[in-house]
Amino acid sequence: MAAIEMKHIVKKYGDGFPAVNDVSIDVKDGEFMILVGPSGCGKSTLLRMIVGLEDITSGDMVVGGDRVNDKAPRERNLAMVFQNYALYPHLTVYENIAFPLRLSKQFSEKEIDEKVRQASELLELDEHLERRPANLSGGQRQRVAMGRAIVRQAEAFLFDEPLSNLDAKLRGQMRTEISRLQRRLGITTVYVTHDQTEAMTLGDRVAVLKRGILQQLATPRELYEHP
Ligand code: ADP
Ligand code: ADP
Repeated sequence: MAAIEMKHIVKKYGDGFPAVNDVSIDVKDGEFMILVGPSGCGKSTLLRMIVGLEDITSGDMVVGGDRVNDKAPRERNLAMVFQNYALYPHLTVYENIAFPLRLSKQFSEKEIDEKVRQASELLELDEHLERRPANLSGGQRQRVAMGRAIVRQAEAFLFDEPLSNLDAKLRGQMRTEISRLQRRLGITTVYVTHDQTEAMTLGDRVAVLKRGILQQLATPRELYEHP
């Protein structure tokens, strides 16, 4: 089953050339989908329409079988992992991960504790639960943001150029880490980048956008053999 279906998605800002022009992409359950293309090709706009931060001009967005065109971000159950990680600086790692569970008021303290410990083991954060974000590495912060999404069982992770501010060495390490974690968690992922290397090494499939149009949708191997 497709976790996220984009059907003939169009986005126009004003009356210029569409930022996203009739794009259809099915992201399968557990798949790592890359959206790649040069600056201005419409990849962030597309990601923002998936998560609900931008209105769709026409077309249908379907998440977990539900049409979500008119649903607010919070109703879509997707987890945007922001470049700046959006953690609460005054809260510990534990409390940052527990936050969405407390907010939902659906869980007992014991259930919250179990979920937080499970997620932090999976993400290898169990030794850092009492730290605050300022005392973590970039990779650890990113994992806390993922932990928050895991405990509330988000349908998918959405990344918008998460590594673009890092130096080359750290970027390589983080790339490996994201890839490893995604496979381990098996969570559907849509990942925006303008970096060809990232696209070819991380994705199960790669959607290549140019001026708002989907040019290619293929595995890295297919793209390598037929660029
Ligand atoms: P990318 O993420 O690939 O760099 P964007 O999705 O940010 O591309 O932008 C796609 C196109 O839409 C660009 O031409 C950009 O200038 C335009 N655009 C993006 N956001 C807005 C906005 N809020 N208002 C008007 N035009 C926008
Ligand atoms: P706040 O983040 O300050 O609570 P909102 O009321 O807009 O602001 O967000 C409420 C909920 O909506 C969040 O807890 C989250 O589940 C969801 N949400 C908002 N923005 C996003 C986003 N970019 N990606 C994923 N979910 C989001």
